[in-house]
Amino acid sequence: EFVNADLVVVGSGFFGLTIAERAATELGLKVAVLDRRHHIGGNAYSENEAQTGIEVHRYGAHLFHTSNERVWEYVNRFTKFTSYQHKVYTSHKGEVYPMPINLGTINQFFRSAMSPTEAKALIAEQAGELAGTDPQNLNDKGIQLIGRPLYEAFIKHYTGKQWQTDPKDLPAEIISRLPVRYNYDNRYFNDTYEGLPVDGYTAWIERMADHPNIEVVLNSDFFEDGEYGRSSVLGQVPVIYTGPVDRYFDYAEGDLSWRTIDLEEEVLPIEDFQGCSVMNYPDADAAFTRIHEFRHFHPERDYTKDATVIMREFSRFAEKGDEPYYPVNTSDDRQKLLAYRDLAKGEKSVLFGGRLGTYKYLDMHMAIGSALSMFDNKIKPHFTGGAKLESGGVDA
Ligand code: FAD
Ligand code: UDP
Repeated sequence: EFVNADLVVVGSGFFGLTIAERAATELGLKVAVLDRRHHIGGNAYSENEAQTGIEVHRYGAHLFHTSNERVWEYVNRFTKFTSYQHKVYTSHKGEVYPMPINLGTINQFFRSAMSPTEAKALIAEQAGELAGTDPQNLNDKGIQLIGRPLYEAFIKHYTGKQWQTDPKDLPAEIISRLPVRYNYDNRYFNDTYEGLPVDGYTAWIERMADHPNIEVVLNSDFFEDGEYGRSSVLGQVPVIYTGPVDRYFDYAEGDLSWRTIDLEEEVLPIEDFQGCSVMNYPDADAAFTRIHEFRHFHPERDYTKDATVIMREFSRFAEKGDEPYYPVNTSDDRQKLLAYRDLAKGEKSVLFGGRLGTYKYLDMHMAIGSALSMFDNKIKPHFTGGAKLESGGVDA
């Protein structure tokens, strides 16, 4: 059977598009990119809200940041970035604090004017119950990082709402993503480069796919019959698969658990609802975890002053049919993942990548970086030197 492409990419998120762009531009390959959604870009997709023209990130707020020089050079081929720096606030018991936890948060919380040294000493004392241990779960790691009072105010319920899993059963890495600072720096990210695409995510994404050798096929599920569906292409041409790994194997080793989010959008007839782009709600009494206000992502744009767009974010376990957003990654999940990796090794000419394909929390820059590595280490050697295309498991 004849397949009208040299390479089939399942999923048009940043991972899939990076592979497609490199294969088309550097190797001159004909690439088919399949997505079951009606648009490209995966979860980074954005569009202008119809009534206000304000750019809304459809699948939750996306902030670009990286310290990877190669990724920064690569993404700048497709878009310029604004100088936006992400800052978050958190509303606890009727008071607003800066987030991530920094000296401002600590002094406000304890009604104090401690120096960095004094604050460190206080937190060390409060974290004393876990001193010298190497906590593997989020609860203990959180208490060790910031002490019990701050943990209970800002982390415990927020994490409970977000993950609906006892923090004792969550891996410690999740909380390690959040910095704790003993100065007044309240930037959310520590990376060298940060910004938002000047003319929006969708313009950036479309430029990546804009190549005569790239054919994008939307509204097409790889597991259904179609020109580039599984039954037509497997064994005919190499496939890069960026959908959920458990789905690929028909859940043979059991379902991996994912978290999904529900986003409630509201257009309000006021200029400014909360004065910042993201306000977290760490208390148990609000059902949502945070509110996004999209105008604040682009203060440089001339948006209407008559209205603003907000989005409340609710988090819950994904069921079949929901969008899988975040790997929950309990120890049970990690066992299943090992079994899926073994299955993936046996899958000839199929490579698994991206957030869903590897069941890993990947930021955009990580998805792009790992796609560039997969291109260099596997795809290019295969097409230029005939190296076997083997995944070695779900390893991106
Ligand atoms: P995705 O973007 O998920 O793309 C996978 C694509 O595959 C989807 O379009 C899907 O429709 C398609 N697909 C799946 N199964 C099939 C199938 N069977 N057939 C056809 N197509 C299929 N990163 C940051 O750097 N900063 C942030 O602030 C940030 N915020 C985030 C907030 C949320 C709520 C989420 C969910 C993610 C966030 N990310 C953020 C991560 C970012 O979305 C990912 O890193 C990036 O989108 C990864 O791209 P990907 O290509 O791996 O996956
Ligand atoms: N977190 C928290 N309180 C906050 C912000 C974050 O407890 O106000 C915890 C929570 O467990 C979350 C993790 O820190 O899952 C990482 O936060 P991040 O903002 O990176 O989460 P994401 O934006 O990826 O949902």
